[in-house]
Amino acid sequence: MVKRILADVKKRNPNEPEFHQAVEEVLESIAPVLDKHPEYREAKIADRLVEPERQILFRVPWVDDKGQVQVNRGFRIQFNSAIGPYKGGLRFHPSVYIGIIKFLGFEQILKNALTTLPMGGSKGGSDFDPKGKSDNEVMRFCQSFMAELYRYIGPDTDVPAGDIGVGSREIGYMYGMYKKIRNEFTGVLTGKGLDWGGSLVRTEATGYGLIYFLLEMLKDLGKNIKGATVVSSGSGNVSIYAVQKLQQLGAKVVAMSDSNGYIVDHNGIDLKTVQRLKEVERKRIKDYVKEHPKAEYVEGCNGIWSVKCDIALPNATQNEIDEKAAKKLVENGCYAVAEGANMPSTPEAIKVFLKNKIAFGPAKAANAGGVATSGLEMCQNSMRLSWSFEETNKRLEKIMQSIHAQAKAAAQEYGQPGNLVVGANIAGFEKVARSMLAQGIV
Ligand code: NDP
Repeated sequence: MVKRILADVKKRNPNEPEFHQAVEEVLESIAPVLDKHPEYREAKIADRLVEPERQILFRVPWVDDKGQVQVNRGFRIQFNSAIGPYKGGLRFHPSVYIGIIKFLGFEQILKNALTTLPMGGSKGGSDFDPKGKSDNEVMRFCQSFMAELYRYIGPDTDVPAGDIGVGSREIGYMYGMYKKIRNEFTGVLTGKGLDWGGSLVRTEATGYGLIYFLLEMLKDLGKNIKGATVVSSGSGNVSIYAVQKLQQLGAKVVAMSDSNGYIVDHNGIDLKTVQRLKEVERKRIKDYVKEHPKAEYVEGCNGIWSVKCDIALPNATQNEIDEKAAKKLVENGCYAVAEGANMPSTPEAIKVFLKNKIAFGPAKAANAGGVATSGLEMCQNSMRLSWSFEETNKRLEKIMQSIHAQAKAAAQEYGQPGNLVVGANIAGFEKVARSMLAQGIV
């Protein structure tokens, strides 16, 4: 049955390898659940799960600083609303096409289910590249993007957030346009500024959540984070706050990267420098070595996985760890990998980790802290109040512990103890499947 569904997906969505990869992993994991539940098979739950409820494609015209008209493409895939309003980020990156948005939207369904909060799955974005654009150009693009997207979203319908290339600046411009068109102040986007409805901890949430999840993995291994050597790829939102939490806990982070290359600093990365370069000055990671001459810069980002470490955190982008990189990590004595980015390990790399008994935290569980805190932002917006940093952080920590517990229990129940890939897929799927079944064929 699973083979037939995957063949259908490939036929219906040709030339979308990232989407096929995400579906294949989930279908493989949930096959025993489908075997156990004839009612899911009869109601074609899996067939319905892999087909988005709605796909929106639109033109985004805007004018650059030279007065030239530019045209980009906008996407929003509302994948599944069985357990709550659609929820998922927006990605602005030149590599964006419908296959990337579908893979991310599909992953989001099960990830959101794991958070324990009522959120369906969606994702969106554009092939717009914010790199090298002025603030005014980014603003005009975001306004044009929202001038179309506003028709399809709403605080009880679909609540977008940030992702690669979409941070607080972009969320601000999009929120301003939504408010102007709709004439209403609602929690339609998350990741908002703290002065206008944002939640404390949202900025840190994915990175911090990843480390809370990692701590649960380490507990099972009987290892301590203090003194561990860590490599964290990327130097964006997820990587920066994962590194911040690691350093607070006494771990030593020796390498970070961007899409051009990576830095190695055996004294431990100076995060303040990275934050200033990337968050404030919007410069490249290679500029780090100008201020820290003992550190080394290497052009090209894949080599980062050859840097010796105890713990590897792929926090940049999809398929950044391939089989070769995974083998290198194993050879170097790495004992835990937790995914901050979405689908950063190829299927072959995951096989290497599982075969070598490396503790492996898959993205949809390990990086769910971002969307979980977005859920907490929605909750605060509905109540029109805001929680303290400590309270929100505590809730995030509890949610991450719960996600780990759910994935671990499901893996155990289905005879694959310790396999959090299978566990996270099954635990997320069961919640969505039960809800779809209860709501009939819609
Ligand atoms: P950012 O845009 O803040 O940062 C992305 C980082 O990854 C940048 O350092 C970027 O480098 C680097 N990067 C991008 N593409 C590549 C590439 N092809 N090779 C190597 N490095 C690359 O994004 P986020 O930190 O928000 O997102 C990172 C990952 O985490 C994504 O997979 C995203 O889907 C996932 N994620 C994010 C969440 C969030 O809350 N932000 C929540 C859950 C998952 P450069 O500066 O050169 O572009």
